[in-house]
Amino acid sequence: SLTRSEEDSQRTLVSSTLTPQEKMASHIVGYPRMGPKRELKFALESFWDKKSSAEDLKKVSADLRASIWKQMSDVGIKYIPSNTFTYYDHVLDTTATLGAVPPRYGWTGGEIGFDTYFSMARGNATVPAMEMTKWFDTNYHFIVPELGPEVNFVYSSHKAVEEYKEAKALGVDTVPVLVGPVSYLLLSKAAKGVDKSFDLLSLLPKVLAVYKEVIADLKAAGAQFIQFDEPTLVLDLEAHKLQAFTDAYAALTPSFEGLHVLVETYFADIPAEAYKTLTSLSGVAAYGFDLVRGTKTLDLIKAGFPSGKWIFAGVVDGRNIWANDLEASLSTLEALAGIVGKERIVVSTSCSLLHTAVDLVNETKLDDEIKSWLAFAAQKVVEVNALANALAGNKDEAIFSASSAAQASRKSSPRVTNEAVQKAAAALKGSDHRRATNVSARLDAQQKKLNLPILPTTTIGSFPQTVELRRVRREFKAKKISEEEYIKAIKEEIRSVVELQEELDIDVLVHGEPERNDMVEYFGEQLSGFAFTANGWVQSYGSRCVKPPIIYGDVSRPKAMTVFWSALAQSFTKRPMKGMLTGPVTILNWSFVRVDQPRSETCYQIALAIKDEVEDLEKGGIGVIQIDEAALREGLPLRKSEHAHYLDWAVHSFRITNVGVQDSTQIHTHMCYSNFNDIIHSIINMDADVITIENSRSDEKLLSVFREGVVYGAGIGPGVYDIHSPRIPPTDEIADRINKMLAVLEKNVLWVNPDCGLKTRKYTEVKPALLNMVAAAKQIRNEL
Ligand code: GLN
Ligand code: ZN
Repeated sequence: SLTRSEEDSQRTLVSSTLTPQEKMASHIVGYPRMGPKRELKFALESFWDKKSSAEDLKKVSADLRASIWKQMSDVGIKYIPSNTFTYYDHVLDTTATLGAVPPRYGWTGGEIGFDTYFSMARGNATVPAMEMTKWFDTNYHFIVPELGPEVNFVYSSHKAVEEYKEAKALGVDTVPVLVGPVSYLLLSKAAKGVDKSFDLLSLLPKVLAVYKEVIADLKAAGAQFIQFDEPTLVLDLEAHKLQAFTDAYAALTPSFEGLHVLVETYFADIPAEAYKTLTSLSGVAAYGFDLVRGTKTLDLIKAGFPSGKWIFAGVVDGRNIWANDLEASLSTLEALAGIVGKERIVVSTSCSLLHTAVDLVNETKLDDEIKSWLAFAAQKVVEVNALANALAGNKDEAIFSASSAAQASRKSSPRVTNEAVQKAAAALKGSDHRRATNVSARLDAQQKKLNLPILPTTTIGSFPQTVELRRVRREFKAKKISEEEYIKAIKEEIRSVVELQEELDIDVLVHGEPERNDMVEYFGEQLSGFAFTANGWVQSYGSRCVKPPIIYGDVSRPKAMTVFWSALAQSFTKRPMKGMLTGPVTILNWSFVRVDQPRSETCYQIALAIKDEVEDLEKGGIGVIQIDEAALREGLPLRKSEHAHYLDWAVHSFRITNVGVQDSTQIHTHMCYSNFNDIIHSIINMDADVITIENSRSDEKLLSVFREGVVYGAGIGPGVYDIHSPRIPPTDEIADRINKMLAVLEKNVLWVNPDCGLKTRKYTEVKPALLNMVAAAKQIRNEL
C-alpha cells in the first residue's frame, strides 16, 4: 500500500499532466561540461597555473552553463538538467555537498571553496589527491569518496541550488541532478585507518540528513522535479544493498512532498531484482532506463510496470557518436506507449551525454557522408526532441527521412563494407587459434636465438617525448616540413634512444615510439575504416580529455605500419629490438565503435590487420614483438554474467594476432593495471611469451595471485618502479622488489622493467632511473 506522502506525490504528479501546448516530453540525463572547444579545460588549467583568477574561471563556466541551457531550451527540451556541470567531477561535488572532506586537507568548515575542492581533486604541495577510479565501464574517472564512522556530514556546498537558481534567472526551469545517496555510498571506500569491514551503508541516515536539506533548498527555490542518478542499480547487487535503496527513498519520501522525483539508471540492463526494488521505491514518480544498452529492460517493463508512474526512456545513445535510427527508436517508444500509455513516456538519452563528443558543427574536416552518420551531444538533443514530437503525433518528416537516408547510406556505403574482411572475420568465430607449440618449448627456442641473461631488462616502449619531437610531428602533419626532413629527425631520435639503451646496457631494446602521438591514433590513422575528429573530445578526468577515433567501417590494413621504423631501429644495434604494436582489444576499447555489428566482429577485424603487421615485422627481421593490451581489462562488461563471453573473444582476438609466427619469435604483451586476480586465467590464456605489467603501486596484490598457486609458465615483468612519478628509484629499493618477486616467481621467468612507457617523463629522470634498474638486475644476477 502507498504511504501518505507517496499518495500526495502521485496526486501532484497527476494534476500536472502535460497539455499539448506545453513542450513535448523530452529530457536529457546530463551534458558534457568541457564546452565545444574545451573552454573549461583551458580555463581550469590557466587558473591552476595562476595565469587567471577564480573570477575568470567562474565566468567561463557560467557562460558554458548558460549556453547549454539556452541550446536545450531553444531546441524544445522540456526537462533540462542542471548541476551536471562541474569544475572537476560530479561525485566530488557530492562529497563537497556532504562536507565529507578527508581531514588531511585541513578544511575547517563553511562553504567549500576552490582551495579545498581542488586539493581533494589534484592534491596540493603537501597533501596528495584523493583516489580516482573509472566511472562504471566508461573512460570517465571520478574521485572516490573516503568515508568512515568519524565523518561528520554537513551541508557544505550549495552548488545544486545555486545552479538551479542561475538557470531560473535565465528563464530556464531545470531538473536539478544529484548523485543518488545509495550510489554515492556504494561507490565510496573506507578511509585509511577505517576497518575494512566497516559497512559504508551504515552511513546512510547521516547522508540522508544532508540530502533532505538539499531537497528542501531546491524546493524552496522552485524546483518541481529532481533527478537522482542511481546507476549502481544496474550492477549485480546483493539483497542488503537493494534494501538500502528501499530504506533510503522511504526515509526521503516526506521531503519529496510537492516534488516529482526521477530515479535515473544507466549503462546496462537493469537486473530483475533491482527493477523490482526500483519500481517499488517510495516517493518516486519516474524511472529512467538505458534502453540502448538495456534491451532486456523492455521485457521487464512489459512484464509489469506500476500504474501512474513515468518512464524516462533512454533511446538516444549517450555513449556513442552515431546518429540515432529515429524510426527504430520511435517503434521502441510506441511499444512502450502501448504498455504504459503515451502520456507516461518521456523521451530521453540512455545516460548523460558526458560520454560523447560535444558538437558536430565543429568538425570541418570530416566529409558530408560520414558526418551524416554521426550525432554528438548537441545533435542528440535535437534527436530526443524530434522523437518526443513524433511520439506526440507531430512527426517532422524531414528529420525522419534524413535519418532514414543516413541509416541507408551507412548500410550500403562501399566505405563501410569490405566483403573480404567480413568473410575473413566471420570465419574466425567459433574456432580456436593457438600457437602450435607450448610456451615453455617456445621460450627455449627463443632463448637459443636471443641468448638473454636471467632477469633480462627491457622497457615498455616509449621514451620521453620532448617538445622538439612534438614540434617535428606537428609540422610534418601540417606539411610545414618535408617527409625527408621528418624521417631524418625521427631517425636521429631513434638512433639516440638506441645508443642510450646500449649505454645503459639494457638487454631488449625499443625504438622509443617518437613517431607516435598516441598508441591507438597512430594505428587508426593507417588502417581503413577509421575516421578522426578535430574536436571530438570526451572528458576523461578533471581537465583531461581524450579524442577517440571513430571506427565506422570494416577494418583493413592497406600497408605495413611500423616495419620501416622498427627495422631501422634494429639496424642500429645487434641487441634484440622489440617491435611495438597496439593490440586489437585496446584499439577497440579506446575508440568509438560501430554499433551495426557486434563489438567482437570489429575486434576480430582489427586482430587480422594486426596479424598482418606482426608477420611483416617478423619477415623484416624483428624477433621480439610486443602487442600492448593496455585496455583489455577496461572492456569488462558491468555484469559478471557477461564477463566470460567478453574475455573469450577478446583473448581469442589477441591470440589471432600472433598465431602465425615461428616458435623462435618472442611475443610480449603489456598491461597497465595489476588487478589481475579475477582474470588471471584469461591472461594466461592469451598465451603470450612474456607479459609486462604495471605493479609498482601494488606489489602485493599482483604477487598474491602467484603465491596462491597460479602457475605461470611464461615470462613476466611486474614493473619495478612507478613511471607516473618523477621520483628516481634507488638501486637498493629496486633490488628489494626484485627479491620480493623472486620469492614468488621462478628466476628464469622474471623480467626487469619499469611499470609503463616513459613518454611523460624527462630524460633527467629516465636516465638515472634506468641506470639504477639495470644495476639492481645485475646485482641480483650475481647473487643468484
Ligand atoms: N608501448 C606503450 C608505451 O610505452 C604502452 C603505453 C601504455 O601501456 N599505455 O608508451
Ligand atoms: Zn602501460
